[in-house]
Amino acid sequence: MATNGSIFGAMLQEFDGAARILNLEPGIWKILTHPKRQITVSCPVQMDNGEIEVFTGYRVQYNITLGPAKGGIRYHPGVTLDEVTALAAWMTWKCAVAHIPFGGGKGGVICDPTRMSRRELEALTRRYVAEIIDAIGPEKDVPAPDVKTNDQVMAWVMDTYSMHVGHTSTAVVTGKPLELGGSLGRREATGRGVMIVTRESAKHLGFEIKGATVALQGFGNVGSISAELLAELGARIVAIADWKGGVYNGGGLDLVKLTDHVRQRKTVDGFSGGDPLTNEELFKLDVDILIPAALENQITMENAQSIRAKVVVEGANGPTTPDAHRHLHERGVMVVPDILANSGGVTTSYFEWVQDRYGYFWTEKEVNERLEAKMCEAFGAVLQNSLKFRVDLRTAAYIVAINRVATVTRMRGMYA
Ligand code: GLU
Repeated sequence: MATNGSIFGAMLQEFDGAARILNLEPGIWKILTHPKRQITVSCPVQMDNGEIEVFTGYRVQYNITLGPAKGGIRYHPGVTLDEVTALAAWMTWKCAVAHIPFGGGKGGVICDPTRMSRRELEALTRRYVAEIIDAIGPEKDVPAPDVKTNDQVMAWVMDTYSMHVGHTSTAVVTGKPLELGGSLGRREATGRGVMIVTRESAKHLGFEIKGATVALQGFGNVGSISAELLAELGARIVAIADWKGGVYNGGGLDLVKLTDHVRQRKTVDGFSGGDPLTNEELFKLDVDILIPAALENQITMENAQSIRAKVVVEGANGPTTPDAHRHLHERGVMVVPDILANSGGVTTSYFEWVQDRYGYFWTEKEVNERLEAKMCEAFGAVLQNSLKFRVDLRTAAYIVAINRVATVTRMRGMYA
């Protein structure tokens, strides 16, 4: 079935494959394939040049059966309601696979934050939050960072919400700065989770992570930390590409120098510690591990044939199209699906929400140990289901997630 470029269509294809194996009853099937709430808002902002711009924003609460909606807010020119809905659905399955008491949500604003001043970004954030204020809250919907949003944006979210309700409410959003209720380890958590599942996958496939070669697409929060932590385990990071260009060094890239370069230039492109590389070339490299950690629809039928990695670990959400995924699976490439691979971020968001509500904060060691335990539990459950049902890891992850959400839906029963 073609998805006609719809990201939500791709999500439905993945869902249907698992639901069929589970023999999911039609009623629950219908519930789980419909978003509960889709909110569209217009956010007027006075720009620095005095003119007023109106930005379109979305917040989708896909499913709140297991708890408050949970999921990031992205700022990107390419944001669409279709994309945000798919991402909110993926958050639902991700939280269920991670075994944390949250539903799935996602937000997005159509804008180009790289071309906006700090003041404009703050004004946009506050107006967007004000427009969705009735829908969010520690018990309702808890946003977090995503593509091109960060801890400062989360601080503005927290402040705007707190001003509206008349008291400081830290648990309304996660991924905040440490000083205002953030959790130690949250910034690194998605990358740490990617490292953990990559290590577990290598163990399962029977190859050493030490000396294994790694190529990454994306060097933002997820890509850079994944690279750093895998390098700490002795892996060799040989290639990184981003929106502008890439760099290759067969002997291993110097990540400290590369991070410095990226801080100044906002891209890995032009880094002198390796040879230039395009995104197309990245996917053809003879490496052990390939980590797409940028945006959706990056591994398609155009480039899947040339992928030579043993394992693809999806740091990004939705980086592989359903066709390309089938092709990789048939060729014996192990794909660790997004809803498992990048769930370290939301798992540590859960820890942050717990600490905020408790008013008592954990050490970084405690956070990392709990994350390690949660990621290994999730990886184990998915692997076990993939062996039991003889399916790929993505279908297995959906089986775990759908089972958990469907069980609670049945137990709660129908309201009215
Ligand atoms: N944006 C991240 C994700 O896609 C984190 C969401 C969260 O922490 O709520 O998983």
